[in-house]
Amino acid sequence: MPNVYFFGDGHADGRADMKDVLGGKGANLAEMTNVGIPVPPGFTLSTTLCIRYLADGRFPDDLRSEVQAALRRVEQSTGKRFGGDPPLLLSVRSGAKMSMPGMMDTILNLGLNDATAEALARRSGNQRFAYDSYRRLVQMYGDVVFGIEGPDGQDLFEDALARLKAQRQVGRDIDLSAEDLRRLAARFKEIVRQEAGCPFPDDPWQQLWGAIEAVFKSWQTKRAVDYRRVHRIPDDLGTAVNVMAMVFGNLGEHCATGVAFTRNPSTGEPGLFGEFLTNAQGEDVVAGIRDPEPVALLQQRLPRAYAELQRAGATLERHFRDMQDLEFTVEGDHFYLLQTRTGKRTAQAAVRIAVEMVGEGLIDRREAVRRVEPDQISQLLHPMVDPAATPEVLTTGLPASPGAAVGQVVFDADAAVERAAHGDQVILVRRETSADDFHGMVAAQAILTARGGMTSHAAVVARGMGKCCVAGAKELEIDEAAQVLQVNGRSVGAGDWLTIDGSTGRVIVGRARLVEPQLGGEFGTLMAWADELRRLRVRANADLPADARRARAFGAEGIGLCRTEHMFFEGDRIQAVREMIVARDHEGRQRALAKIEPMQREDFIGIFREMNGFPVTIRLLDPPLHEFLPRGHDEIAPLAASLGVPLEQLHHIVEALAETNPMLGHRGCRLGITYPEITEMQVRAIFEAACAVAAEGGDVHPEVMVPLVAHVEELRHQLNLVRATAEQVFAECGRRIEYLVGTMIELPRAAVVADEIATVAEFFSFGTNDLTQTTFGLSRDDAGRFLPFYVEHGILPDDPFQTLDAGVEKLVELGVRLGRQQKPALKIGICGEHGGDPRSIRFCHQVGLNYVSCSPFRVPVARLAAAQAALGDRAERDV
Ligand code: ADP
Ligand code: MG
Ligand code: MG
Repeated sequence: MPNVYFFGDGHADGRADMKDVLGGKGANLAEMTNVGIPVPPGFTLSTTLCIRYLADGRFPDDLRSEVQAALRRVEQSTGKRFGGDPPLLLSVRSGAKMSMPGMMDTILNLGLNDATAEALARRSGNQRFAYDSYRRLVQMYGDVVFGIEGPDGQDLFEDALARLKAQRQVGRDIDLSAEDLRRLAARFKEIVRQEAGCPFPDDPWQQLWGAIEAVFKSWQTKRAVDYRRVHRIPDDLGTAVNVMAMVFGNLGEHCATGVAFTRNPSTGEPGLFGEFLTNAQGEDVVAGIRDPEPVALLQQRLPRAYAELQRAGATLERHFRDMQDLEFTVEGDHFYLLQTRTGKRTAQAAVRIAVEMVGEGLIDRREAVRRVEPDQISQLLHPMVDPAATPEVLTTGLPASPGAAVGQVVFDADAAVERAAHGDQVILVRRETSADDFHGMVAAQAILTARGGMTSHAAVVARGMGKCCVAGAKELEIDEAAQVLQVNGRSVGAGDWLTIDGSTGRVIVGRARLVEPQLGGEFGTLMAWADELRRLRVRANADLPADARRARAFGAEGIGLCRTEHMFFEGDRIQAVREMIVARDHEGRQRALAKIEPMQREDFIGIFREMNGFPVTIRLLDPPLHEFLPRGHDEIAPLAASLGVPLEQLHHIVEALAETNPMLGHRGCRLGITYPEITEMQVRAIFEAACAVAAEGGDVHPEVMVPLVAHVEELRHQLNLVRATAEQVFAECGRRIEYLVGTMIELPRAAVVADEIATVAEFFSFGTNDLTQTTFGLSRDDAGRFLPFYVEHGILPDDPFQTLDAGVEKLVELGVRLGRQQKPALKIGICGEHGGDPRSIRFCHQVGLNYVSCSPFRVPVARLAAAQAALGDRAERDV
């Protein structure tokens, strides 16, 4: 296999489907070349070479001649000479298989030294340009290859530049003279000699090899490793190196450089969207140093280039059948594309683009459903600032990533992480962000920057994470040392509350009121397509009528888990519950339960009404009783008085009910078995409610679920009680309701004897939260002390409470197999939080569950994930 892949003159050795070997950037440069897009010639060094180099610490012997041959072709194509006259300059760019924005560094203008810089100046007739390019090379090379920075991490090159500008009393780089820039290049070379302990290499070939090695090594830098961890990118992919002929957007006002999306990445609206700068090079646009102009203005400035950009964008969209993110440079009469990739987009844009591309005949419905990331669409369900409110707007920036969030201000990434770890909601405020802020952006609710455009680091990364972001809020003056920001004399300090509205760009003082979004339009269309494709049903976990209503609005097809105990805390019910707990005999308990029963009935009536026509699984009381009692003396004393129980005695009861390990204690069906009157009361409430709603003409499907069953006899006991009580209610009401009695499978014993349990159970629901706890022998409440460490150090691949663990999956698989062996048509679902996790949903689909149940907000996520699981299934069968 070759190490080097050439592209240029309308032909490339590589192709778009060779991302494994060429990285994303290299594969797409090859593809663009092959489809006739103007791309400067160059070649790609493979990822395989990277891995080999990192392992061996040196290059294979024949690499030198391979690179020389490729470079000769670039020289022929451009008519320039590397190290000669006219000088060929190169860019050296990293590019892994997955796009890793800002993670790897690029070197531009490689090949310049005193001699070639002079030749460049002469040939271009533009001395400023030549020496500006030269000083940029030395600066980038010093940074990337030698890792030069000041003792406090400051940028020595930028400092020297700033000093020179101050000396010359000019504000902008472009106001420096050619001679200034020539001296600056020399000064930069001195900095390299001092800091690196060796001279800047004048030999272009030495520059090239140094740059290639630096790019390969940058695969191992901390920020690259961190990024891969967060995004689950394997460490053994390696990065490719792309070496390309330089083209120049900085030769004058007839030149430009910019970035453009083929559709709006925030809203999905069709048409070019992006920014450009005239007379600028490379990263000037992204870095936010000068303020770029919207790409629409390019049409006025450089109409021919704009037409070329439109044509290239249209060609590439048709070719790749997806929205593209382009980098372009205009060098006088010549227009070049330097990169194309699938554009990152907000959830809103992803949905609109997928649906519109079906309309345009670019993709089919299945592809549209595949295109949208399930986790991402949960953004669409999240709040926005109440349009009816008139909040106090501090300032406005660019609406860089939509959604709204409320949080307390922090000024650096570490503080964001620290505060978030304490459960605080924070807004990360920075002048601008870089890859070093990444961990803080992950931890923050929203990001606010003072500088940069719609394609700045903050904007791109925030959109990728689905986090709201306002960028380039120019009025912000940030004083990091004093931990304060100022806008027109008004100051906001660390810890103060702000609301960030990434949809409009508003920065709002204090905590604004947020409201729920609308779910129609393209979102509704896409979800309808997903519903046609999926096999899994999706239910919601909902305890109250209001949750049930929201769940239905999000498309839930029933309730998979209704936890009755949440109702116990409502209003003054807790008093009756406590009365029941302190009662010393059956009669006392029944008196208290009689007070609770009508309240429970009302809740169930509300839920049955909301879920008209859909099944509702109601779990009998689960938590240990002590959870309903107060702890401290201060609370116990008044309770004793109000219950009319001697203080001494109440203390006794509280003590007696205390458990060392409540997770494994007197809870679940163990309660209903030892206190059957609790089960009777709950079942009575359920069926009285069901009869009442049926009497109104409602269509009710109750499913009574017994928690924490380990042994079939436990279930049999409760089932008999449920049946007997239900019969009584039916007799009293004069009507019958169809219903099921089933159990949670949340203990390993239940999973391994699922066949026995299925002789009694009419349905199973895997309670994977408890099943994970009991499989691991691990209490979730105490897991915080070591679980994050485990995940960080790769001892566990994921948090098992978020994504089903492989061991827990085995138990689920066993439970399903044994259960269905006994009862082939057994209805089986999952009601742990995993029911809303796309990867776990995939497993649920594969293992043949009937439904998943998750929180109402995750319902659309689950619908989409279930459709994708079904599509994956089919694709596998197609092979
Ligand atoms: P990143 O992956 O961070 O975007 P790139 O390798 O794409 O880094 O390059 C950084 C900047 O340099 C981009 O703006 C790109 O367009 C510009 N650039 C890269 N190669 C060339 C080249 N051959 N000529 C001119 N500009 C280039
Ligand atoms: Mg790029
Ligand atoms: Mg449980």
